[in-house]
Amino acid sequence: MMETMHSKSFIVAVDIGTTSVKSLVVDRDGSVLASHSVEYPMHTPRPEIAEQDPLQIFNAVLRGIREALRKAGAAAGQVLCVSFSSAMHSVIAVDRELNPLTKSITWADNRSAGYVDRLNRHYGGRQIYLNTGTPVHPMSPLLKLMWMKDHMPDIFHKAHKFIGIKEFVFAKLFGQFLIDHSLASGTGLFNLRRLDWDEQALEAAGVRREQLPTPVPTTHIVSGLPAGYAAETGLSADTPFVVGAADGVLANLGVGAFEPGRYAVTIGTSGAVRGVVREPTTDPEGRLFCYALKEDFWVIGGPINNGGIMFRWVRDELATLEAEEGRKLGGDPYDHLTRIAEQVPPGSDGLIFLPFLAGERAPYWNAHARGVFFGLSLHHRKKHMIRSVLEGVAYRIRSVVEALEELAGPAAEIRASGGFARSILWRQIMADVLGAAVTVPDAIESSGLGAAQLGLLALGEVRDFSGVHAWVKAGVRHEPDRRNHAIYSELSAIYSRVYRQLKAEFDAIAAFQKQHIGKE
Ligand code: ADP
Repeated sequence: MMETMHSKSFIVAVDIGTTSVKSLVVDRDGSVLASHSVEYPMHTPRPEIAEQDPLQIFNAVLRGIREALRKAGAAAGQVLCVSFSSAMHSVIAVDRELNPLTKSITWADNRSAGYVDRLNRHYGGRQIYLNTGTPVHPMSPLLKLMWMKDHMPDIFHKAHKFIGIKEFVFAKLFGQFLIDHSLASGTGLFNLRRLDWDEQALEAAGVRREQLPTPVPTTHIVSGLPAGYAAETGLSADTPFVVGAADGVLANLGVGAFEPGRYAVTIGTSGAVRGVVREPTTDPEGRLFCYALKEDFWVIGGPINNGGIMFRWVRDELATLEAEEGRKLGGDPYDHLTRIAEQVPPGSDGLIFLPFLAGERAPYWNAHARGVFFGLSLHHRKKHMIRSVLEGVAYRIRSVVEALEELAGPAAEIRASGGFARSILWRQIMADVLGAAVTVPDAIESSGLGAAQLGLLALGEVRDFSGVHAWVKAGVRHEPDRRNHAIYSELSAIYSRVYRQLKAEFDAIAAFQKQHIGKE
């Protein structure tokens, strides 16, 4: 600490996620000097509800900053700025005094599912998507507001503002209602080309623009932290706060996936594929989202429900004995199952798995889709089924990549992250299915690193994002195997046709399940 005591050298990046706030102290070289997570619960009193307590999250932000600074041994005077990343799509109704009238209704909340149809039929949902870049889906704040108006009319009419969780944090800290263009672009209410609220969407939501926060660029800086909060966080009152952007968008920046041909693939429990384009780009077929980072940096992509959760299902339901065997051998059951899958050749001897157990978002946006093993015959063993699930998730990713390639050009390199990237086999399957190199950058907190880089840009410390490439350490690289790619391309075409031909039957089986099991 000695000689750096008075030089400002640290960026504090705060990533407000779905399960926790992660605060990082990052130096100018992108090294993470300290990090601190503060977790908070998701309240799901019924399956379709997914809410969080905004005040609890606000306190977690304050505590996270304080603890991260303490762990880094950083003094207030050394902090260049605090820069933010946040989960998208949350809605909180607040009164004039900033008291929350609702919990923070998160992206995962499904109560507005019935409004998808209504928006499409009565308000021109497709046009609103083309203007706003947010797919017409219950995650969208636009649909949540339509729902709230009908189901909580008192609160809806009493509300002073409708804001998301990061806007709530900024309003608490600075008394200003601001929303960065990036989070705004995930509300379903923000016109991407005019960078302003969209009249057609406002009308559908039944809100006036004065009830929404003021849109500002992601590099917008606010300062003047009240003394109490400065003391509580260990910052000084004049520390600049950069409003920042949405986590998924910043993750592309933080893994260095923003040049043409480079896509980011994340597969944790769910998954997403994202690429960067230079101007707002929406999909005539409505398959992909488009979210902002700055005027020449737009992230397009698609989220998938059925990512790593498919392999978890294999571990817990299909290959329980094998998983147990893995545990007995003292290792991770996933690694054991992966070794079993390795005994089967690429293409699983003609077994194809359609991993739609949780319905699906991109590119089909079909909540009624269900899982299918296709091509099963007597020569197939359980090991084929295990491998075909890993391959099926890669076909899922391929169908989103293909939609992206139509708008953003061919994929040459995939930057992989999330739990699936722990498996050598799964990464190679991904490279072979996509016909593109797969690399694994060793940036663990990619959204936080992206926020830190954005902070430097906001302060004028850097002129563009090229410095990120020195921050992201290149990890392992898998080249696609031509022969395997040919096999997978043949099977992936069958996979897509099977999906299309079963569409009506997915509706039928989902209706049956709804009636007989009481849930979808
Ligand atoms: P989350 O979405 O909760 O952040 P992770 O990113 O840790 O979760 O991803 C969890 C998923 O990653 C698991 O469901 C599994 O599919 C996959 N996974 C985790 N470890 C391994 C492994 N060793 N080999 C293959 N897949 C793995």
